[in-house]
This record gives sequence, structure tokens and C-alpha cells, in this order.
Amino acid sequence: MRTDTPQTIYRKDYTPPTYLVDTVELGFDLDPERTIVASRLVMVRNPDSVRNGIELHGVNLQLVALRMNGRLLHAGDYDISGDILRIPAAPDDVTLEIETLTAPVKNTTLNGLYVSNGNFFTQCEAEGFRSITYFPDRPDVMAKFTVMLRADKSKYPVLLSNGNLVEEGDLGDGRHYAKWEDPFKKPSYLFALVAAKLVCQEETFRLKDGRNALLQVWVEDGNLDKTDYAMQSLKNSIRWDEERFGLELDLDRFMIVAVSDFNMGAMENKGLNIFNTKFVLANPRVATDVDYAGIEAVVGHEYFHNWTGNRVTCRDWFQLSLKEGLTVFRDQEFSADMIGTDTGRAVTRIEQVRTLRQAQFPEDAGPMAHPVRPDSFVEINNFYTVTVYEKGAEVVRMYQTLLGRDGFRKGMDLYFERHDEQAVECDDFRAAMADANGRDLAQFERWYSQAGTPVVTATGRYDAAAGTFELTLSQSCPATPGQPSKLPFHIPVALGLLGADGKDLALIVDGANAGTTAVLELMKPKQTFRFTGVKEEPTPSILRDFSAPVVLNYPYTDAQLLHLFSHDSDPVNRWEAGQRLAMARLLKMTAAVGAGDKLALDDTFIDAMRKILADESLDSAFRENALLLPSESMVAEQMEVVDPQAIHLARQAMRKTIGSALRKDLLAQYEANQTPGEYSPDAISAGKRGLKNLALAYLSAAPDDAIYALAQRQFDLAGNMTDRVAALTALIHSAAPGAADALERFYAEFDNEALVIDKWFAIQAAAPVTDVAAVRALMRHPAFNLKNPNRARSLLFNFCNGNPAQFHAPDGSGYAFWAEQVTTLDALNPQVASRLARSMDRWRRYAPALQAQMKQALQKVSGSGKLSSDVGEVVSKALT
Ligand code: ZN
Repeated sequence: MRTDTPQTIYRKDYTPPTYLVDTVELGFDLDPERTIVASRLVMVRNPDSVRNGIELHGVNLQLVALRMNGRLLHAGDYDISGDILRIPAAPDDVTLEIETLTAPVKNTTLNGLYVSNGNFFTQCEAEGFRSITYFPDRPDVMAKFTVMLRADKSKYPVLLSNGNLVEEGDLGDGRHYAKWEDPFKKPSYLFALVAAKLVCQEETFRLKDGRNALLQVWVEDGNLDKTDYAMQSLKNSIRWDEERFGLELDLDRFMIVAVSDFNMGAMENKGLNIFNTKFVLANPRVATDVDYAGIEAVVGHEYFHNWTGNRVTCRDWFQLSLKEGLTVFRDQEFSADMIGTDTGRAVTRIEQVRTLRQAQFPEDAGPMAHPVRPDSFVEINNFYTVTVYEKGAEVVRMYQTLLGRDGFRKGMDLYFERHDEQAVECDDFRAAMADANGRDLAQFERWYSQAGTPVVTATGRYDAAAGTFELTLSQSCPATPGQPSKLPFHIPVALGLLGADGKDLALIVDGANAGTTAVLELMKPKQTFRFTGVKEEPTPSILRDFSAPVVLNYPYTDAQLLHLFSHDSDPVNRWEAGQRLAMARLLKMTAAVGAGDKLALDDTFIDAMRKILADESLDSAFRENALLLPSESMVAEQMEVVDPQAIHLARQAMRKTIGSALRKDLLAQYEANQTPGEYSPDAISAGKRGLKNLALAYLSAAPDDAIYALAQRQFDLAGNMTDRVAALTALIHSAAPGAADALERFYAEFDNEALVIDKWFAIQAAAPVTDVAAVRALMRHPAFNLKNPNRARSLLFNFCNGNPAQFHAPDGSGYAFWAEQVTTLDALNPQVASRLARSMDRWRRYAPALQAQMKQALQKVSGSGKLSSDVGEVVSKALT
């Protein structure tokens, strides 16, 4: 959306809508060049309104006619300024009839009504509905929708909208129609339509209460061999929500539609979820284990929104985390429950922690830092962030940690009892949790209002004579934009104490037995917790299961970390100890590269890695995660002044040392973790492939002809995409003799599979050998298409975010490229451009020479004239 003067919108300025909408009847005459939208709104003055007049939103619409209670309105009866159409004088009960025109085929923003591969789709969250028709396009206006679709029958045989199909038929002139009615009132951002040539896999599914629901997965012809897993995931989601939260599907029909041009992952439109193909299509030939896991999570996520988001929605967009944080938490729990085992759960938790550190902590520490419930924004689309989603999910998880699973469920039940079919605030959710459990959660509110990652500093004191261990915890939180100082958070800190034998000690607090893991509640700036009956000096395992999204400092010795790495009963902290050991070494080696010193890795560390690698009592997936080094960008976050090339060289050197020192063990695990027979995406098999392919990656870091041959053989013989991609990556990263040929063959084989060609671009974008010139060359490849977000992300984002040593080339060529691409993309698709713009968030932390060039690139974008509010907000905050 282009605006001349981007305005900041504040949460404190919220006012209720002036009118409410009872019913909406929408008529669409669909045509790519000229779509006519007729809308009939039955409205009533809102008794709670503090202002007068009707206010409708509209963007880029051509208004044909506007009638109020049957009377045609003329200029003077209403005024349009910016995105608002105002009718100042209106009676209390009003029927508006509005006719507008749009040209969906010209819409490259993929927001509102657009055309992809000749088919019509919509994306209305957050504010896309206003580019379809004039409407009070705000989530606290909930209305009942009836939708009539008319379109050419041969081009668009399938006509879908929300709710139930109530009528369909021919119109005679080669056109046909379908009428849909949604029985539930909903905000406009949940509206959707699809008019397309598609086919579906469908199934009747029995719900817990005995009703039958029709489930459909719609895809383009030729993709029906890739819908099974999405369908299975949908059925699992429905069952899971019935069991875990007592929430049932409230519709007779639930549809998932896949589209290849999509800005985000998927969208929870009532009864008509629209998905990026990436999160629907899978079979072993084209999809990796990670893709399968993504499909399960996103199908679950969107389905769970039906209650957390749709039945209970947000009062305003500042409350976005009310639905997103909660729904991410729900999909995380769903994925963990689908695995079922304790280590399986822990591995999903480890992956969540990695995402937080990799993406959310940096956001919290950068120019776009914002609270889980922001206080202001310029462009709401910029606030679909890891903070609102993933940190928001951590906040929800902390309720469960504090209240227990049953207490959390009670809170959820009360939330729905109080707020079904309402548009509410994050505070209402917190109140339900508190009231259902008789708990005071007032201080917990700061997790919603204060940005920044809290730092918890811990110290321990063992008194052998008294048999006591005292743990002192203090907390602080760095300043963030607009928030120079912070108040203490309410932080659940899960703690265990390990004895010398590696076993958990029994915890005694205030004379009472507290099991082996206690949840301490840190509420003050500094608190001391005292454990009695401690017969030996313990090693504390602090923040088990990552019980709060904080940075923990404890003066661990290497010996203590090695002890935790070998014994902690909490798998997340066991993994964490290994990460601390690895990070310390990465930082030391990075410093050594900078100083031109010799790089060395101690045997103690290598032996610890060897022990975990060979310990077959541990799940392969856990071992894979334990052996995975912190990424280059995670190392960067730990440095005062970031030197991307030094980090890259240090990490490569470390991988090479491990690859050669552990060669025998890696080869043994490579063989032991083969998964012969038919492919299955289950967690055990995926874990084996994960460990095997990590072994291959380490081996390829110290390659010789035998390793090249191993990777080549895997590439040639792989029976699934996971092994295929891992082998191709190994060949390319190690610059194996067969690399170029493998790339070419891979392309030829999957020419017709867009999602696989995305991988082809992505692997190259992130390869250490790929420099800016190589990326530019890839952009000239006939298969590259900047307008398709998946393709743009596969090449540009993977280069700018996933190849730091090349992106931060000392000559600034990466930054110039970035500026060019952000500007070009912005003219096509501001939402995608603005995501790419965020690659420069942390520019102030780089060495002065890089910093100056990054600043220049930012200024170039910011000065390039007609910027969208999306990109404008990101670059101007980066430069402030
Ligand atoms: Zn969501």
C-alpha cells in the first residue's frame, strides 16, 4: 500500500466502531481485468461509539454507486479521504448498497483479491478486505456473510467461499454461480473466496459428537499425488483439539486450498483455509522431512485458529498475539504430542529454542524491537513477527508452566465460556487464566507490554557443613526503542540439581519435598532460593525445558558443562550445555582468526561430541541436535563487533576438525542410521536421516575422494528428497568434482516441481562459494521469478540471511544488491520487500567499514522516493 505520509497508529487511541454490521451480502462478478463487487450491508449504530457517522475503509477501489436505505448518495453526502469513506449523517439503522470495481490481474501485492496461475484467490488479513470493497475493515466488527460468486464456468469450474454451499447453478452465458453462507459471524479479515480450476482429495470425517464433516484439500491438477499428508494432518488436528482442549469443528465442511503465489505460510479463513503450496504438497520424491513437519505444524496451526482466532478474535491488531501466540503454542504442543515420546518432545522444544535465539532474540535487540502486544505501528503487516508469534507462544507456555496442564486447561475453558464470538484483548486471556486458577497474574502482564529479552543472572553457593545450596537469581532487561527502563518480569525458572553421579538430587524447599525439578518464580529484581538436605556440591541445571524466553548467565566451568552434557535428565538442558561448550569455542576461534592466530580445538570437547554421537541409547534426533553447532548468525549475536568472515572461517575450521577427528565414528553412524525400505516421515525415521545427513555434512567438511564418492552415491541412489537434498548440499559445499553435474541433473529431473526448484535455488544461495555475481546470474535463469514469493525467498532471502560471509563481502557488493532488490520488489509486493528489508536490522553491530556501507545502502532505499509504508517503516526505524 502506498501512502504519502505514513502515520503511526497507537494502541491507546483505540475507539469502538461507530456502526456494527449485522449481515453482509456480497456479489462477485469475477473477471481478471474488471471484477464487479456488489455489497449490501445491514448496519446499526453502535451504542458504545463515542463518535458519529459511518466509517468504511477502502483502498484502490473504483466506486460505481453508493446507496443508503435505497437512496443514491452523491458527492457531498459522503467524503473519501485517504483510506476512509465517511458518511457523516446517517440514521441509526442503515442498509448500504455499494458497487465497486477492481482489476485483480493487476494486483501483484498478493493482498486482497488477486490472480495466481489464472485462478482467483484472496488474502484479507490484516487489512486486505478494504481493497475488495468498502467495509469497516477492523476485527471488532463481526458480521454474518453471504457470498454469491459468478464466473466463467470453463475457466473457473470451482467456486468457493466461507461456510456452507447453499446453492449453485448455471447462468446460461457460459457462466455459473455458487452461493455460500457462513453460519458464524466473523471479522472481514477472515473472508475468503477461490474461483479456480482445481481438483480435490476429499473425505467424510466423523467428529467426536457424531456429526460428519466433509474435509477437502484443493490443488492444481497433477498434484493429487501430494495431498495425503495434509489430509492426514488435518484429521489429526481435529482429533487432537477434541482431546486436548475439548474443542470441536463447528462447520459441516472444512476446506484447504493450495496456491503457489502466497505472501506467508497460510491463512485461517473460516472454513476455507488458503495455504502456500509449500505447506500442503508432499510426497517422498519432492518433500523433505522438514517439509513434512512444516505441513503438519501449519495445517494444525490454521485449523486451531478456528477457535483461537476465529470464534474468539482480536479487538484490534495490537492484540495479534492473542490469537497468534496462543495458536503457535497449540501447534507446538500438537506436533510434540504427535511424536509422543519424551525425547521427541524435547527435540521439538530444542528446535523452538533455536528459532527464538536465531530470530527472536535479535529482533528484540534491534531497531524493530516491540512488545508481544505492540503499542504502535505504521504498517500492521510488519508486525507478523517472531516476537508476536514465537515469543507470544513462549508467553502462553509460561502460563502452563506456572499453572500446570490442568490449570491451563481450566483457563482455556473459562476463556471460551466468557468470550465466544467476541473480539477481545490479551488482557482478557490473562484474566481468564488468573480467575480460573485463583492466581494473581498482574505482574505477568509485563511480558505483553515490555520489549527486550530479559537477562537472568544466577549464582550458586554450597554450604557443605549446613547441607544447603543457595541459588541467587537476578534479572534485568536491556533498553529497547521507546522503553529505556524496564520493571521486573514474572519469570518461571525450572531448576534441577545434579549430583556427582549425574543423577538428580531430591529438592527440599522450606522443608517440603519439591521433586527433582522445581519451578522457582522470580518476580523481584533479585531473589535467593534455598535448598536444604543437599549432601554434596551440586551442579545446577537452570531453566530446564527453557522455562522462560530469557538469556541465562551462570558462571559454569567447562567441567560442569561437560557433566550436564553427559548426564542432565532434562534433554533440553543437556543440549544447552553442549551449545554453551560449542559457543565458547566458536567465539575463541573467531577471535583467533581475527588475530591471525592458529586455530585449535581441544580434545575434551571433541571427546564429548564423540561420546554423544556414539551413544545409541539416545534418539538419533537428539544426537543430531546435540552435534549441531550454533549458526554463524547466532555467533554474530554474541559478538561486540561482528566480523562475518572470521566467524565463517572459524566455524568452517571447527566443522573440519570435527569431521576429521570423528571420521570413524561419523562413518559408523552414517551406516547405522540408514533408513532402508519405504519412506516414512515419522520422527524416528526422520531423526535417523537427520543424524546420518549431519554425519555426511561433517565428513564433507574434511573431504577426500572416499567422502566425495559417499555423497555422490547418496545423491545417485537416494529414494527420498531428504537424502537427495542432503547429498546435493554436501557435494556443493565441499566443492566435490561431481557438484556441477549433480546440480544440473537435479534441475532437469524436477523441472516441473516448483517447490523442488525453490530448493535448487536455495541450496545455491546459501553455499559458501556463491557470491553476489553468482546470485545475479541465478536471477537471470529462466526459472527465476521475482513476483513469486517462494522463488524470491529461495534465492534472495537465503543469500542475504543465510550466507553471511558472502552477503557481508568487504566491498559492499552484497549491500548494493540488497538495496536494488528491496526497491524493485517494493514496487511489486511491499510485504515481501519489507521482509527482505529486515536483513539490515543489525547493521550497527558490524565493523566500522561494513557499517558505513550498510548505512549507505539503507539510505539509498529510504531515499528512493515512493516507498511503501511497509519498507518505509523498516528502513526508517533501522536508521533512527
Ligand atoms: Zn496464525
